[in-house]
Amino acid sequence: MKAEILCVGTEILLGDIVNTNAQFISKQLADLGIEVFHQSVVGDNPERLLEELKNGFERSDIIITTGGLGPTQDDLTKETGARFLGRELVLDKDSLENLKKRFSSMGRSYLKGNNVKQAYFPKGSKILPNPNGTAPGCIMEEGNKALIILPGPPKEVTPMFINYVKPILKKYSTRVIKSKTLRICGIGEGIMAEMASDIIKNSTNPTVAPYAKEEDTILRITAEAPTENEALDLIKPVESRLKKIFGINIYGEDNAKIEGVLGKMLVDKNYTISSAESCTGGLIAAKLVNYPGISQVFKEGAVTYSNEAKMNRLGVKKSTLDKYSAVSYETAKEMAEGIARTSNTDIGIATTGIAGPGGGSPGKPVGLVYIGLCIKGKTKVKKFQYPGNRATVRKRAVMSALDWIRREITDK
Ligand code: ATP
Repeated sequence: MKAEILCVGTEILLGDIVNTNAQFISKQLADLGIEVFHQSVVGDNPERLLEELKNGFERSDIIITTGGLGPTQDDLTKETGARFLGRELVLDKDSLENLKKRFSSMGRSYLKGNNVKQAYFPKGSKILPNPNGTAPGCIMEEGNKALIILPGPPKEVTPMFINYVKPILKKYSTRVIKSKTLRICGIGEGIMAEMASDIIKNSTNPTVAPYAKEEDTILRITAEAPTENEALDLIKPVESRLKKIFGINIYGEDNAKIEGVLGKMLVDKNYTISSAESCTGGLIAAKLVNYPGISQVFKEGAVTYSNEAKMNRLGVKKSTLDKYSAVSYETAKEMAEGIARTSNTDIGIATTGIAGPGGGSPGKPVGLVYIGLCIKGKTKVKKFQYPGNRATVRKRAVMSALDWIRREITDK
């Protein structure tokens, strides 16, 4: 089965909105084992929409549209779908009743001329209720082809797809596609691909693909099989091999977040922690606080941006700042020790660096960050050089800091 997605809306073409519906539906179809070969966007123009439907059905068995189901004259997806399949539009009494109820519950008057249009559907279609909006969707099946028409707003599309479309599409799918993601920090995409090159080259089912994300890198293992369990069985041995190769570099799986993984470890081990941040300006503290339950171990996050703050709050020596400057191995060390000592925590983490765009020099270029980590009185400092703009440098420094703590407190 081949499917394609056709999103209707001039707003998408103008770049005013991002086509998240296509992303969501593609992902859902992949999970169902239905291959998506094409995504397209047309403006609110019935002739171009008609042409896309014609082209689409020459390539695919299923077309899923979103948008253009509103009450106005330029919302023409259903009308064009009906024209394409040569069906007339007929009134659905239940939808009309629901529409009237919805309008009266919102205290709005029901506009006969316009709104009633949303209760008309191409003859013979299956109607998809929309408890989250005024426009129901519909499915028209014609032989072994299907045209599925959904509304535009994502908060309406998501539940409609999951509750009504997915169960229907299951019958079109004879296999499932399952993926497992291993999340890795501290190794770039290139090195990662090299470390796993044998597996990547020689695997067809499952396939293994590396991807660079903004803050980390991932390895995605994807298998195809008649059932979910069979797909998972294909994934397992490859996953074990990759886990052996990457070991501690893997910080989590699937949608895991570094703060969730680290937060749990800190709470489980009852390690108290505090942070002293210069260039990351509180991002480490903010990430830690994302983890519910962190209050048991996170004592304090200090944003010590100026030299005065580094001296007054953390006890960094003036002589250190004068001799080595704020962005240095020595300052990072004293910051980490200072915050652990004054907050009385097992762990003190500190960052100092040059996030840019200005402020760099040949010896200390933009992107240079020192991270200090003091654990139970023992302090280490690491020097990092990040590419990218100010936001990227700061995000990557946070990721490195949190991941370094994770590595240090992992049982070896
Ligand atoms: P309504 O019944 O609310 O009029 P509709 O079915 O006519 O909805 P559109 O008018 O096409 O849908 O879109 C309504 C809104 O939904 C858009 O303004 C936009 O915010 C959002 N939207 C539409 N299409 C997409 C898309 N492909 N991806 C993300 N958001 C979208």
